Amino acid sequence: MYDPKSKHAEDFINHEEIMETLDYARKNKTNRELIGEILEKAKKRKGLSHREAAVLLDCELDDKNQEIFTLAEQIKKDFYGNRIVMFAPLYLSNYCVNGCLYCPYHLKNKHIARKKLTQDEIRAEVTALQDMGHKRLAIETGEDPVNCPIEYVLESIKTIYDMKHKNGAIRRVNVNIAATTVENYRKLKEAGIGTYILFQETYHKESYLKLHPTGPKHNYDYHTEAMDRAMEGGIDDVGCGVLFGLELYRYEFAGLLMHAEHLEAVYGVGPHTISVPRIKKADDIDPDMFDNGIDDDTFAKIVACIRIAVPYTGMILSTRESKKCRERVLHLGISQISGGSRTSVGGYVEEEAEDESSEQFDVSDKRTLDEVVNWLMDMEYIPSFCTACYREGRTGDRFMSLCKSGQIQNCCLPNALMTLKEYLMDYASQDTREKGEAMIAREIQNIPKEKVRQIVREHLEEIEKGNRD
Ligand code: SAM
Repeated sequence: MYDPKSKHAEDFINHEEIMETLDYARKNKTNRELIGEILEKAKKRKGLSHREAAVLLDCELDDKNQEIFTLAEQIKKDFYGNRIVMFAPLYLSNYCVNGCLYCPYHLKNKHIARKKLTQDEIRAEVTALQDMGHKRLAIETGEDPVNCPIEYVLESIKTIYDMKHKNGAIRRVNVNIAATTVENYRKLKEAGIGTYILFQETYHKESYLKLHPTGPKHNYDYHTEAMDRAMEGGIDDVGCGVLFGLELYRYEFAGLLMHAEHLEAVYGVGPHTISVPRIKKADDIDPDMFDNGIDDDTFAKIVACIRIAVPYTGMILSTRESKKCRERVLHLGISQISGGSRTSVGGYVEEEAEDESSEQFDVSDKRTLDEVVNWLMDMEYIPSFCTACYREGRTGDRFMSLCKSGQIQNCCLPNALMTLKEYLMDYASQDTREKGEAMIAREIQNIPKEKVRQIVREHLEEIEKGNRD
């Protein structure tokens, strides 16, 4: 039976409840009155239940769909302003004991070069990322308790945090590693990680079991209950996501929101972020194998409906998506994007020869970080390298209450502008710098309090003189 408070995967991601939800949404796809009521509730910016959000996702009334997109855009502006937080993935190891049918890291793939970075190689990769201007990383590994144990991950995090750079250190390391034990989550927390990210891949249990035929990841319950263990281990920022294309998107959408409802119901705080990856071509994987791929229109609708359903949850878009697609969905609710990404182990230091690729999947957006920053500003977005909240301990429910009270506008905008200034001074091309300086001059006027504006001006002068945080 559906019970968001239960800690059992099959209760909080309950198949019958999802099927009923999809049926309800289908029956009401042109129910103008109900859709209108749900939109009115959504306008209060307190979120929607999975059932309500599913109705919006299925809505087939053109004018109401337009309202959905407009509202998503407005909610994104209200909660996140025009800032986009920048990050980069860092692949540490592609050893993997799982048999995931969609992932080139799968154990039986013999033509992928297996690599695990040494601590020196990690330093070289991180230096390359710092030289681009990155301050926030997401580390990625395959699952292999022997070749890539938790001790290796912890040591790598320490290596990264200990590194100095002429223009400042990496301030936040998010972690995307396989589901693990409470004890290991506690160790990750102690190592000072930011968000623990784990994609569910699919919430559909039957499909999940087929898609993960072998290895520890086969255990659906263990995987689905990972965020509960992470929370028990003290990690209060968790990032959810599904790999769109594996199963029917309506099912995944409902599952994702039920997962968020569960975390909110049990721990008082929903996911910090939701990622929306779509399956990509990869070595030894035929994406045509998966016939649930979603087109760009559906993708945009999903992003908009997630934004409306969970207004306080950040949304992450990776370089799996092309520039064109990113342009289309950014304003509908995305708050974080990666830029200048490489998805191979060691890829920031060395370009790989095609035949020895260890890439996890094809990257669609291959632009440099500077090009991405420049493009964001052309669209009036402020690229932000800010990690201030995490340094000051404003994570989890404390962060959420700051966000909910609207205060975030008074501290995020200033921090975004100051970190952008650092980026412009230290890394930007001439053109990017000129655009950025003009943007800072304009945006500073939008800081509500004069006192804060003054502090920001002083800090900007300090940065200009070469002082760094
Ligand atoms: N090994 C970790 C685990 O088991 O969750 C996660 C790390 S993996 C490097 C990160 C994510 O890449 C996976 O969770 C999966 O969703 C995604 N991924 C795998 N194959 C992919 C493909 N062919 N296209 C796009 N994304 C893919």
